Amino acid sequence: MALIDTYGRRINYLRLSVTDRCNLRCSYCMPEEGVEKLSHSQVLSYADLLRISAEAVAAGIEKIRVTGGEPLVRKGILTFLERLAALQGLKELVLTTNGLLLKEMAQGLRDAGVQRLNISLDSLKPETFARITRGGELSRVLDGIDAAEAAGFPPHKINVVVMQGVNDDEIIDFVELTMKRPYAVRFIEYMPTCGDADWRDLCVPGAEIRERIAKRYAIEEIRNSERSGPSKNFKLRVTASGIAKGCLFSGEGVDLRPVLETGDDALLRQEIGRIVEAKPGRHKVTDEGAETTPFAMSRVGG
Ligand code: SAM
Repeated sequence: MALIDTYGRRINYLRLSVTDRCNLRCSYCMPEEGVEKLSHSQVLSYADLLRISAEAVAAGIEKIRVTGGEPLVRKGILTFLERLAALQGLKELVLTTNGLLLKEMAQGLRDAGVQRLNISLDSLKPETFARITRGGELSRVLDGIDAAEAAGFPPHKINVVVMQGVNDDEIIDFVELTMKRPYAVRFIEYMPTCGDADWRDLCVPGAEIRERIAKRYAIEEIRNSERSGPSKNFKLRVTASGIAKGCLFSGEGVDLRPVLETGDDALLRQEIGRIVEAKPGRHKVTDEGAETTPFAMSRVGG
């Protein structure tokens, strides 16, 4: 089966948020005062997350990215991942983490069947890292990255949210890191998720990041492999509270709980198909004058 939206795009990638809790409080992700936490009963059980995943895979999803909040802080995550990895038809299981708990958990993740890690790392300087994460300890993440390498993971993807005047002076340092270690560094444009009025001052557009790198190093574009090709960009999200969204910025989304409560998994599959069909062509959040409701990425699942 395949999930095709009204624009003819094949949706084969599900981002599944398993918790809204996080052990960091990154400035780009949530406001200083934090965000209201979901209550225990609002967070989907592992059993329901597995039902959604199984139906999504049966409907055509081939790759699942487990995210959060910080997925590694949820109790029982390794057993859940092991079950997820065993889903018939799932070709790729990957996980996004801030790396803080990797030192202890990397081997368990590998053994559970996680194939690859995306690690968020926004600075290589301890003080800047602590400032961005509001108190995080860089050395723990670096130890975690090493532990994951030792556990046999293929080269990690390192995600860097670039912010003008905060860490944009480290773009070249991150590029040079890829020359010393086998990582793929991905620079991410800062998005105005928290509704901050001055986001354009913080955002360094991708084209500018490329230009800055090109002044120092010759850049050559590489062709994407099949599953990381264009279809990968067309994804479906499910939040920790069971809200499915065709697009990160598509307001409310669809609550999957009522369907889950019916116990009818065929209906669940149909609902997933319906959400994919209604997927918007593109998000307009960075358009001049665009109006969106602010949200913390930790609640939606980054
Ligand atoms: N805790 C995990 C982690 O740190 O990777 C997973 C969740 S976190 C919300 C995932 C990622 O969301 C962040 O590393 C960052 O890349 C992205 N993110 C969150 N807020 C963002 C923003 N305002 N602009 C761009 N990316 C953002």
